[in-house]
Amino acid sequence: MTILKSASSASDLVSSTGTAPTMLRRTMVAAVGASLCAGAVLGSASSATASVGQLSPGASIAISSVETPTPRAKQVDKRVIGKSVKGRKIVARLHGSPTATKVGVIIGSMHGTERAGARIVKKLRKKGAPKNTAMWTIRTINPDGHRKKTRGNARGVDLNRNGSDLWKGTARHPVYYPGPSSMSEPETRAYVSFLSEIDPDVVLIYHQAGNGVDSYQQKNAGLTKGLAKRMKLPVKSFNCDGECTGTLTGWFNKKEAGTALTIELTRTVRGKQVKRWTKAARWAIRYVPDTYRD
Ligand SMILES: [Zn+2]
Repeated sequence: MTILKSASSASDLVSSTGTAPTMLRRTMVAAVGASLCAGAVLGSASSATASVGQLSPGASIAISSVETPTPRAKQVDKRVIGKSVKGRKIVARLHGSPTATKVGVIIGSMHGTERAGARIVKKLRKKGAPKNTAMWTIRTINPDGHRKKTRGNARGVDLNRNGSDLWKGTARHPVYYPGPSSMSEPETRAYVSFLSEIDPDVVLIYHQAGNGVDSYQQKNAGLTKGLAKRMKLPVKSFNCDGECTGTLTGWFNKKEAGTALTIELTRTVRGKQVKRWTKAARWAIRYVPDTYRD
């Protein structure tokens, strides 16, 4: 609590929350003390916002205006989940309630040539998480590729072929180069360890420009359909010309209880679409069942 009182800036708040959200998710009942602590972080974040006034931590924060930042729009945690080949940080930011059991992860991009999803992430961070949820956002899990505008990482590896699920060393070079071995790349290991740790109920990951919401080996058809409708994109099966190998969604959907979904955005993107897609992502976090189980 002393740490919280001395927190005078956003970054202080960030560091003071530490790894509490994950621990809470895993040990919700046992960690009563920690839970109160995390609640206080939210509370102090709220009271630091002049327009919020006297809201107590537990009070309803469903402020009707969607334009003004709400307490939910406050970032409550930030983590460096790993580093790229070139040493660039891969950062995940948490908005919403650190104690929420409904957890979503939104990944802006993994291919540096497909950047529109980063615009959705930017908007999501302004809006904050849906009520009673925890929303993690990652602008890109391929910061080197994002910087250089290349599909692969700094070693030319396609991170969406480098995962452990059905990894194949013979996947087509060079565009889909899967790397020398499964999970050989630090970026792949970063998302694997992060997602394994926080067990999200839903993971949305954006690509371009297949123009559709993916139904290939879909785990939650309602989610696919609902997102497609809200995003005004068709449902399509992106089967990687036969079988997908080493993908993030393939790995997550087999290993975790939650659902990971690939979304292929359009090539050209208008502001109106980004707004619509941001709304859809927030809907998805509310829609999915709480799959927390261990
Ligand atoms: Zn892609």
